[in-house]
Amino acid sequence: MTKPVFRFAPSPNGHLHLGHALSALLNTRAAVALKGRFLVRVEDIDLTRCTRQLEQEMFEDLAWLGVPLDEPVLRQSDAFPEYRAALEKLQDLGLVYPAYLTRAEIKKFVAEFEAEGQKWPRDPDGAPLYPGDASVLSETECNDRSNSDAPFTLRLDMKAALKRIGRSLFWEETGAEGKALFDKPHQISADAAVWGDVVLARKDTPTSYHLSVVVDDARQGITDVLRGKDLYEATSVHRLLQELLGLPVPLYRHHRLILGEDGRKLSKSNQDTSLRSLRQAGASHAQLRRRIGL
Ligand code: GLU
Repeated sequence: MTKPVFRFAPSPNGHLHLGHALSALLNTRAAVALKGRFLVRVEDIDLTRCTRQLEQEMFEDLAWLGVPLDEPVLRQSDAFPEYRAALEKLQDLGLVYPAYLTRAEIKKFVAEFEAEGQKWPRDPDGAPLYPGDASVLSETECNDRSNSDAPFTLRLDMKAALKRIGRSLFWEETGAEGKALFDKPHQISADAAVWGDVVLARKDTPTSYHLSVVVDDARQGITDVLRGKDLYEATSVHRLLQELLGLPVPLYRHHRLILGEDGRKLSKSNQDTSLRSLRQAGASHAQLRRRIGL
Protein backbone atom coordinates (compact mmCIF):
# COMPACT_ATOMS: atom_id res chain seq x y z
CA MET A 1 0.00 0.00 0.00
CA THR A 2 1.26 3.49 -0.81
CA LYS A 3 1.72 5.84 2.11
CA PRO A 4 -1.07 8.43 2.34
CA VAL A 5 -0.07 12.05 1.71
CA PHE A 6 -2.16 14.81 3.29
CA ARG A 7 -1.91 18.55 2.77
CA PHE A 8 -3.10 21.76 4.38
CA ALA A 9 -3.33 24.50 1.75
CA PRO A 10 -4.06 27.95 3.21
CA SER A 11 -3.97 31.28 1.37
CA PRO A 12 -1.94 34.05 3.03
CA ASN A 13 -4.50 36.73 2.21
CA GLY A 14 -5.41 37.32 5.84
CA HIS A 15 -4.80 35.75 9.23
CA LEU A 16 -5.65 32.11 9.89
CA HIS A 17 -8.76 31.53 12.00
CA LEU A 18 -10.22 28.71 14.10
CA GLY A 19 -11.47 26.91 10.99
CA HIS A 20 -7.91 26.77 9.63
CA ALA A 21 -6.68 25.46 12.98
CA LEU A 22 -9.21 22.63 12.76
CA SER A 23 -8.20 21.82 9.19
CA ALA A 24 -4.47 21.89 9.90
CA LEU A 25 -4.77 19.78 13.06
CA LEU A 26 -7.11 17.23 11.46
CA ASN A 27 -4.65 16.83 8.60
CA THR A 28 -1.66 16.33 10.89
CA ARG A 29 -3.62 13.89 13.08
CA ALA A 30 -4.86 11.92 10.08
CA ALA A 31 -1.33 11.69 8.68
CA VAL A 32 -0.11 10.27 12.00
CA ALA A 33 -3.09 7.89 12.42
CA LEU A 34 -2.71 6.53 8.88
CA LYS A 35 1.10 6.55 9.00
CA GLY A 36 1.39 8.99 6.13
CA ARG A 37 3.01 12.32 5.28
CA PHE A 38 1.73 15.82 5.81
CA LEU A 39 2.56 18.83 3.61
CA VAL A 40 1.75 22.53 3.83
CA ARG A 41 1.11 24.32 0.54
CA VAL A 42 0.91 28.10 0.25
CA GLU A 43 -1.97 29.02 -2.08
CA ASP A 44 -0.85 32.52 -3.03
CA ILE A 45 -1.92 32.94 -6.67
CA ASP A 46 -3.73 36.15 -5.79
CA LEU A 47 -0.64 38.32 -5.82
CA THR A 48 -2.53 41.46 -4.86
CA ARG A 49 -4.00 40.08 -1.60
CA CYS A 50 -1.39 37.50 -0.57
CA THR A 51 1.78 38.94 0.94
CA ARG A 52 5.04 37.54 2.28
CA GLN A 53 4.33 39.31 5.58
CA LEU A 54 1.01 37.44 5.95
CA GLU A 55 2.73 34.22 4.88
CA GLN A 56 5.33 34.68 7.63
CA GLU A 57 2.60 35.37 10.20
CA MET A 58 0.75 32.27 8.97
CA PHE A 59 3.87 30.17 9.57
CA GLU A 60 4.12 31.64 13.09
CA ASP A 61 0.51 30.64 13.79
CA LEU A 62 1.18 27.13 12.47
CA ALA A 63 4.31 26.83 14.62
CA TRP A 64 2.24 27.85 17.66
CA LEU A 65 -0.32 25.19 16.76
CA GLY A 66 2.47 22.62 16.52
CA VAL A 67 1.86 22.01 12.82
CA PRO A 68 5.12 20.87 11.17
CA LEU A 69 6.36 22.56 7.98
CA ASP A 70 7.90 20.23 5.46
CA GLU A 71 10.61 22.42 3.92
CA PRO A 72 10.76 23.69 1.27
CA VAL A 73 7.06 24.53 1.37
CA LEU A 74 5.47 24.60 -2.08
CA ARG A 75 4.29 28.07 -2.99
CA GLN A 76 1.81 28.36 -5.86
CA SER A 77 3.27 31.65 -7.08
CA ASP A 78 6.45 29.68 -7.94
CA ALA A 79 4.51 27.24 -10.12
CA PHE A 80 2.90 29.46 -12.76
CA PRO A 81 4.60 27.56 -15.66
CA GLU A 82 3.00 24.30 -14.47
CA TYR A 83 -0.46 25.88 -14.39
CA ARG A 84 0.11 27.51 -17.78
CA ALA A 85 0.96 24.09 -19.25
CA ALA A 86 -2.27 22.60 -17.85
CA LEU A 87 -4.24 25.55 -19.18
CA GLU A 88 -2.69 25.08 -22.63
CA LYS A 89 -3.72 21.45 -22.58
CA LEU A 90 -7.33 22.49 -22.00
CA GLN A 91 -6.99 25.18 -24.68
CA ASP A 92 -5.68 22.59 -27.14
CA LEU A 93 -8.80 20.54 -26.44
CA GLY A 94 -10.86 23.60 -27.47
CA LEU A 95 -12.44 23.91 -24.02
CA VAL A 96 -11.34 27.43 -23.02
CA TYR A 97 -12.65 30.82 -24.14
CA PRO A 98 -11.88 34.42 -23.20
CA ALA A 99 -14.68 36.23 -21.38
CA TYR A 100 -14.77 40.00 -21.13
CA LEU A 101 -17.73 40.86 -18.92
CA THR A 102 -16.74 42.62 -15.71
CA ARG A 103 -18.31 41.69 -12.36
CA ALA A 104 -20.34 44.90 -12.47
CA GLU A 105 -21.66 44.06 -15.93
CA ILE A 106 -22.67 40.55 -14.85
CA LYS A 107 -24.39 41.98 -11.77
CA LYS A 108 -26.30 44.51 -13.86
CA PHE A 109 -27.34 41.87 -16.42
CA VAL A 110 -28.58 39.53 -13.66
CA ALA A 111 -30.46 42.34 -11.85
CA GLU A 112 -32.22 43.31 -15.09
CA PHE A 113 -33.04 39.68 -15.87
CA GLU A 114 -34.42 39.08 -12.38
CA ALA A 115 -36.44 42.31 -12.49
CA GLU A 116 -38.60 40.50 -15.05
CA GLY A 117 -39.55 38.01 -12.33
CA GLN A 118 -37.34 35.03 -13.19
CA LYS A 119 -34.33 33.80 -11.16
CA TRP A 120 -30.93 33.70 -12.86
CA PRO A 121 -29.06 30.44 -12.01
CA ARG A 122 -26.37 30.66 -9.35
CA ASP A 123 -23.46 28.37 -8.48
CA PRO A 124 -23.23 26.58 -5.09
CA ASP A 125 -21.34 29.60 -3.67
CA GLY A 126 -24.19 31.89 -4.71
CA ALA A 127 -22.42 33.61 -7.63
CA PRO A 128 -24.45 34.03 -10.82
CA LEU A 129 -23.47 31.69 -13.66
CA TYR A 130 -21.62 33.43 -16.47
CA PRO A 131 -24.21 34.71 -18.95
CA GLY A 132 -21.82 34.83 -21.93
CA ASP A 133 -20.44 38.01 -23.51
CA ALA A 134 -22.97 37.90 -26.35
CA SER A 135 -25.91 38.34 -23.96
CA VAL A 136 -24.58 41.74 -22.88
CA LEU A 137 -22.19 43.07 -25.52
CA SER A 138 -22.70 43.66 -29.24
CA GLU A 139 -20.43 41.87 -31.69
CA THR A 140 -18.47 45.11 -32.23
CA GLU A 141 -18.02 45.61 -28.47
CA CYS A 142 -16.78 42.02 -28.12
CA ASN A 143 -14.27 42.55 -30.95
CA ASP A 144 -13.16 45.91 -29.55
CA ARG A 145 -12.44 44.36 -26.17
CA SER A 146 -10.53 41.43 -27.60
CA ASN A 147 -8.41 43.83 -29.68
CA SER A 148 -7.73 46.13 -26.73
CA ASP A 149 -5.99 45.86 -23.40
CA ALA A 150 -9.27 45.13 -21.60
CA PRO A 151 -9.18 42.72 -18.64
CA PHE A 152 -10.52 39.23 -19.29
CA THR A 153 -10.89 35.80 -17.73
CA LEU A 154 -10.35 32.47 -19.43
CA ARG A 155 -13.32 30.20 -18.77
CA LEU A 156 -13.98 26.51 -19.15
CA ASP A 157 -16.69 25.75 -21.69
CA MET A 158 -18.58 23.52 -19.26
CA LYS A 159 -20.99 22.01 -21.79
CA ALA A 160 -18.17 21.08 -24.16
CA ALA A 161 -16.04 19.72 -21.31
CA LEU A 162 -18.85 17.47 -20.03
CA LYS A 163 -19.56 16.35 -23.57
CA ARG A 164 -15.93 15.45 -24.06
CA ILE A 165 -15.95 13.24 -20.96
CA GLY A 166 -19.31 11.77 -21.97
CA ARG A 167 -19.98 9.82 -18.76
CA SER A 168 -20.82 10.43 -15.13
CA LEU A 169 -17.99 11.26 -12.75
CA PHE A 170 -17.69 10.30 -9.09
CA TRP A 171 -15.38 10.76 -6.17
CA GLU A 172 -14.72 8.66 -3.10
CA GLU A 173 -15.53 10.35 0.20
CA THR A 174 -14.80 9.22 3.74
CA GLY A 175 -14.32 10.49 7.29
CA ALA A 176 -11.99 13.25 8.40
CA GLU A 177 -11.48 12.57 12.09
CA GLY A 178 -11.43 9.93 14.78
CA LYS A 179 -12.53 6.42 13.94
CA ALA A 180 -14.25 7.68 10.76
CA LEU A 181 -10.77 8.08 9.23
CA PHE A 182 -10.85 4.33 8.72
CA ASP A 183 -14.40 4.13 7.31
CA LYS A 184 -14.96 2.53 3.94
CA PRO A 185 -15.25 5.34 1.34
CA HIS A 186 -18.55 5.87 -0.43
CA GLN A 187 -19.11 7.19 -3.95
CA ILE A 188 -20.41 10.69 -4.51
CA SER A 189 -21.71 11.81 -7.91
CA ALA A 190 -19.90 14.84 -9.27
CA ASP A 191 -22.11 17.54 -10.77
CA ALA A 192 -19.81 20.13 -12.30
CA ALA A 193 -22.58 21.60 -14.50
CA VAL A 194 -23.99 23.52 -11.52
CA TRP A 195 -20.87 25.72 -11.58
CA GLY A 196 -21.31 26.89 -15.17
CA ASP A 197 -18.28 28.14 -17.08
CA VAL A 198 -15.77 28.37 -14.22
CA VAL A 199 -12.76 30.70 -14.38
CA LEU A 200 -9.49 28.90 -15.20
CA ALA A 201 -7.20 31.92 -15.50
CA ARG A 202 -7.19 35.72 -15.63
CA LYS A 203 -5.45 38.26 -17.80
CA ASP A 204 -2.62 38.71 -15.28
CA THR A 205 -2.73 35.28 -13.59
CA PRO A 206 -2.31 32.09 -15.65
CA THR A 207 -4.44 30.07 -13.21
CA SER A 208 -7.35 30.02 -10.77
CA TYR A 209 -8.08 28.20 -7.52
CA HIS A 210 -9.73 25.24 -9.32
CA LEU A 211 -6.95 24.76 -11.85
CA SER A 212 -3.99 25.12 -9.49
CA VAL A 213 -5.47 22.90 -6.79
CA VAL A 214 -5.84 19.90 -9.12
CA VAL A 215 -2.41 20.44 -10.69
CA ASP A 216 -0.76 20.70 -7.25
CA ASP A 217 -2.58 17.80 -5.64
CA ALA A 218 -1.29 15.69 -8.55
CA ARG A 219 2.30 16.96 -8.59
CA GLN A 220 2.63 16.67 -4.81
CA GLY A 221 1.25 13.13 -4.92
CA ILE A 222 -1.61 14.00 -2.54
CA THR A 223 -3.63 10.85 -1.86
CA ASP A 224 -6.06 12.31 0.70
CA VAL A 225 -7.62 15.76 0.35
CA LEU A 226 -8.88 16.59 3.84
CA ARG A 227 -10.47 20.05 3.82
CA GLY A 228 -13.58 21.93 4.97
CA LYS A 229 -17.14 21.13 3.86
CA ASP A 230 -17.25 24.59 2.27
CA LEU A 231 -15.21 23.05 -0.58
CA TYR A 232 -17.36 19.92 -0.92
CA GLU A 233 -19.26 21.17 -3.99
CA ALA A 234 -16.06 22.40 -5.63
CA THR A 235 -14.90 18.78 -5.72
CA SER A 236 -17.19 18.29 -8.74
CA VAL A 237 -15.14 20.82 -10.72
CA HIS A 238 -11.91 19.26 -9.48
CA ARG A 239 -13.03 15.82 -10.65
CA LEU A 240 -13.85 17.17 -14.09
CA LEU A 241 -10.49 18.94 -14.43
CA GLN A 242 -8.62 15.83 -13.23
CA GLU A 243 -10.41 13.81 -15.88
CA LEU A 244 -9.70 16.32 -18.67
CA LEU A 245 -6.04 16.60 -17.67
CA GLY A 246 -5.50 12.89 -17.00
CA LEU A 247 -4.56 13.44 -13.35
CA PRO A 248 -4.82 10.92 -10.50
CA VAL A 249 -7.86 11.18 -8.21
CA PRO A 250 -7.30 11.52 -4.47
CA LEU A 251 -9.66 10.33 -1.77
CA TYR A 252 -11.71 13.19 -0.29
CA ARG A 253 -12.46 13.81 3.38
CA HIS A 254 -14.51 16.98 3.97
CA HIS A 255 -14.61 18.06 7.60
CA ARG A 256 -17.19 19.93 9.70
CA LEU A 257 -16.98 23.70 9.72
CA ILE A 258 -16.49 25.96 12.72
CA LEU A 259 -19.24 28.55 12.70
CA GLY A 260 -19.14 32.01 14.20
CA GLU A 261 -21.59 33.29 16.80
CA ASP A 262 -23.81 34.47 13.95
CA GLY A 263 -24.03 30.85 12.74
CA ARG A 264 -22.03 31.66 9.61
CA LYS A 265 -18.75 30.35 8.25
CA LEU A 266 -15.74 32.15 9.80
CA SER A 267 -14.10 34.83 7.75
CA LYS A 268 -10.55 36.12 7.68
CA SER A 269 -11.86 39.65 8.08
CA ASN A 270 -13.18 38.89 11.58
CA GLN A 271 -10.19 39.36 13.88
CA ASP A 272 -12.01 37.89 16.93
CA THR A 273 -11.55 34.35 15.72
CA SER A 274 -8.07 34.82 14.25
CA LEU A 275 -5.39 32.58 15.77
CA ARG A 276 -3.14 35.57 16.05
CA SER A 277 -5.50 37.55 18.26
CA LEU A 278 -6.41 34.51 20.37
CA ARG A 279 -2.72 33.78 20.80
CA GLN A 280 -1.96 37.38 21.70
CA ALA A 281 -4.83 37.34 24.20
CA GLY A 282 -3.06 34.45 25.94
CA ALA A 283 -5.31 31.55 24.83
CA SER A 284 -3.83 28.14 25.62
CA HIS A 285 -3.70 25.13 23.30
CA ALA A 286 -6.24 23.33 25.49
CA GLN A 287 -8.67 26.26 25.19
CA LEU A 288 -8.20 26.38 21.46
CA ARG A 289 -8.77 22.64 21.05
CA ARG A 290 -11.92 22.83 23.17
CA ARG A 291 -13.19 25.68 21.06
CA ILE A 292 -12.81 23.66 17.85
CA GLY A 293 -14.09 20.43 19.38
CA LEU A 294 -10.83 18.48 19.41
N1 GLU B 1 -6.67 27.58 -0.32
C1 GLU B 1 -7.98 27.12 0.05
C2 GLU B 1 -8.45 27.92 1.25
O1 GLU B 1 -7.67 28.59 1.91
C3 GLU B 1 -8.03 25.65 0.39
C4 GLU B 1 -7.92 24.82 -0.82
C5 GLU B 1 -8.17 23.34 -0.64
O2 GLU B 1 -7.98 22.82 0.47
O3 GLU B 1 -8.50 22.69 -1.61
O4 GLU B 1 -9.64 27.89 1.54
